[in-house]
Amino acid sequence: MVFQKTRGESSGILGMQSDLVILGSGIGGSITALIANQMGMDVILVEQSSHPRFAIGESSTPQADIALANIATKYNLPRLAPLARYGTWKQTYPELGCGPKRGFTYIHHPNIENELLVESSPDGIDCDSNWLRSDLDAFLVEEVKRTGISYFDNTSVTLHEDDGWKLEADNLSCTTKFLIDATGGSNPLGIEQDCSSFHTNSRAIYSHFNGVSSWGKLHGKQKHPYPCHDSALHHIFHGGWMYVLHFDSGVTSAGFVLDNASRPNDTWESLMAEFPDIQKQFEHATPIRPIVETTRLQRYAKQIVGENWAMLPHSAFFIDPLHSTGIAHTLYGIDLLMQNIGTASGLQNYKEIIQNQARLVDQLIHGSYCCFHDFDMFSQFVMLYFAGADYTERQRQAGYAPDFLHANDQAFCKTVGTFYTHVSNGTFNPNDVRAAIEPWNMVGFCDPSKNNMYTH
Ligand SMILES: Cc1cc2nc3c(=O)[nH]c(=O)nc-3n(C[C@H](O)[C@H](O)[C@H](O)COP(=O)(O)OP(=O)(O)OC[C@H]3O[C@@H](n4cnc5c(N)ncnc54)[C@H](O)[C@@H]3O)c2cc1C
Repeated sequence: MVFQKTRGESSGILGMQSDLVILGSGIGGSITALIANQMGMDVILVEQSSHPRFAIGESSTPQADIALANIATKYNLPRLAPLARYGTWKQTYPELGCGPKRGFTYIHHPNIENELLVESSPDGIDCDSNWLRSDLDAFLVEEVKRTGISYFDNTSVTLHEDDGWKLEADNLSCTTKFLIDATGGSNPLGIEQDCSSFHTNSRAIYSHFNGVSSWGKLHGKQKHPYPCHDSALHHIFHGGWMYVLHFDSGVTSAGFVLDNASRPNDTWESLMAEFPDIQKQFEHATPIRPIVETTRLQRYAKQIVGENWAMLPHSAFFIDPLHSTGIAHTLYGIDLLMQNIGTASGLQNYKEIIQNQARLVDQLIHGSYCCFHDFDMFSQFVMLYFAGADYTERQRQAGYAPDFLHANDQAFCKTVGTFYTHVSNGTFNPNDVRAAIEPWNMVGFCDPSKNNMYTH
């Protein structure tokens, strides 16, 4: 085998050798490539498609942004750091699309006076963002190329496992010791899938739109701790929910996510007809790309690591966009994987932690679905998510080891599991949540005097 390497070019090349090949150049694959390069690995990034391209997964969270800032510092990638806050993003990379995300807004339908607002940032500058993924993912790939990492787009590889891996494509032939699947579930390794252990069973109908009115313009109130649309806006209703994410350009990402059991036949049009207040928000909206209707969203790979390969979290499984766990889990998972990549026991550790987290996320999401019909139930149950997320953020800021949704605390997982059982079997008492989350509740979640308006 001739060792020949051209760095940062996507022109075809034969006979390359590398320590690591990453398949998929979404945020996950590109950031993993940048980290691997900083760790001194010889890395190749391969993308089946090309950038810029549409991608879903746009609402960041405090956990996601803390994880991104941590990666920027830990692996000496300072050009990623500004992306972790809306203000620094706009200042440093004004050409990359985004919008401010000051918190989580929930509106219940049909009675829209039922509101829950959880502010997650001090102001409209030092806050999280809604990420226009086509811009961000293209930027990250440019960073990969700028750093000199070998990058191949429009490349579909065939894989042969042979004391490592051999990859073949029209424009590429290479061997590698280790492979990371960052394809977001396209499953190039052909791993058996089985999502029967997930309770969540949902599908999505989504697109990007022009002309969506802001909820604040229609229904803003003095008591709201922040402009209610500068957020991940959630419309909640029996059997489903809708996300509405605004970008500064005037484009809005929006999608319904529906429980397959209770809403098997709903369409964009039928839901608009059913919920007049949502219809009003969308009365001047036009989709700027075709509306996507998915099949069941949930997937779960039975194996997520092997002797010489591993999957990133979003390749290993997906549950549902509720609570915007995807980006945070991806970033947390990348850091965890790169700390464990050298040994079989390390990979086993990565696998167990990631799978445990997936179980917790499923309970938090499906438990919320079980409460969608009753806003009081929902607004108490969802505090399990906020308590876990907030506690984790504080732990990380205090210098403790990174964690995702506080899933490494058995007592917290047991508490979530108990409440999940209660909402599933109809024995849930919303008044019980406050005392149960007390060990992790640093900011007064479930305090009735706050009337569902939580300031930062
Ligand atoms: C409807 C919906 C809404 C969501 N909303 C949110 C949200 O608001 N917040 C949040 O945190 N998360 C959200 N998520 C989850 C989020 O999309 C993922 O967590 C995130 O995109 C993971 O990034 P990734 O880079 O791992 O994968 P992806 O973004 O899926 O990127 C995978 C890349 O791999 C490429 N690829 C595919 N197959 C191959 C192959 N065989 N070889 C080479 N390349 C390949 C693809 O072209 C793509 O570029 C949402 C998901 C869905 C389905």
